[in-house]
Amino acid sequence: MEFSLDYRPYRFKLNQPIALGMLVTGYREGIIIRLIDDSGKTGFGEIAPVESFGSEPLENAQTKLDSFYGRVTLDAISTLYQEGYGCTQFALRSAVKSIFKTAAYPQSEVYSAALLPIETNPFSKELRACKAQGYRSIKYKLRPEAQGGISYKGLVELLDAVQDTGLKIRLDANETLSLEESKRALEILEGYSHSIDFLEQPLDRMLVAEMIDLSYEYNIPIALDESLSTMGREICSYSMPESMVWVIKPSLGDLNLLSDSHKNPLVYSSVFETAIGFSAILELQDSTYDGGLGTQSYFEDSSVVYPSSGMPVQTGLWTQAMSETLWNRLQ
Ligand SMILES: [Mg+2]
Repeated sequence: MEFSLDYRPYRFKLNQPIALGMLVTGYREGIIIRLIDDSGKTGFGEIAPVESFGSEPLENAQTKLDSFYGRVTLDAISTLYQEGYGCTQFALRSAVKSIFKTAAYPQSEVYSAALLPIETNPFSKELRACKAQGYRSIKYKLRPEAQGGISYKGLVELLDAVQDTGLKIRLDANETLSLEESKRALEILEGYSHSIDFLEQPLDRMLVAEMIDLSYEYNIPIALDESLSTMGREICSYSMPESMVWVIKPSLGDLNLLSDSHKNPLVYSSVFETAIGFSAILELQDSTYDGGLGTQSYFEDSSVVYPSSGMPVQTGLWTQAMSETLWNRLQ
């Protein structure tokens, strides 16, 4: 099966600088791709790499797209991940999926965790606001105190406030903790286990064995994020407890890490895609935890993001016509 392939790069301004992996940037750059099948049906997809997570750079994605000379087959798409083009593969697969979609997906609701700013304190007012907006879970970036993060005393105050509101919390350390700091944090979290989703990526991405050990040692789920995208399928060779959470970034090709026998709970996470990539993630329905999808509000131009208001997010609100409009703007 063959499709005609075209693509258009984009560069959209963000309303504040964001950390895209290790790069702090005020812009999001990517590529929108368009496939058309022989009957004239059209589908769109988005390449939105994060290079410090091991993604192919945009230039490489573009060179790869050029190598197809405007025609691409399903077979060629299926091998892209092994060739190092996970982001390109997700874009092309999303486009194929939308071409084959015969009817509109039944609408459903997708929950995402709210990101609590690191400098929030006292916490209770902000947490009550999240609850009032419909959130069930919040995310907080956990840093060592020496790196501007919260003190252990502050962490206890935060957890007390979370417990009072009935929300759940996930703490994302983004590889910044030492083993000792991880253990200290986990000991505190164990006192609030009913309010904790997980502790995400406490240690460096390569220290998977150490994080597996922490999972056995403590009663709090450990989530792998940076480790997954960077190590690729090598991660599947580790034996780990079924409580360990996998943070899957579909735009980076992470769906390739999942097999039919996969048992670990999943969190789907967006990486600052426009609505084209974002809506493809929303259609993945088997996430165990509320998603990490709070990226849309960072785009300055609201016409390139998913048209939702409030929590939960309704699926199916981004239409083919909206994709066409965005595509036409990029020429
Ligand atoms: Mg993370």
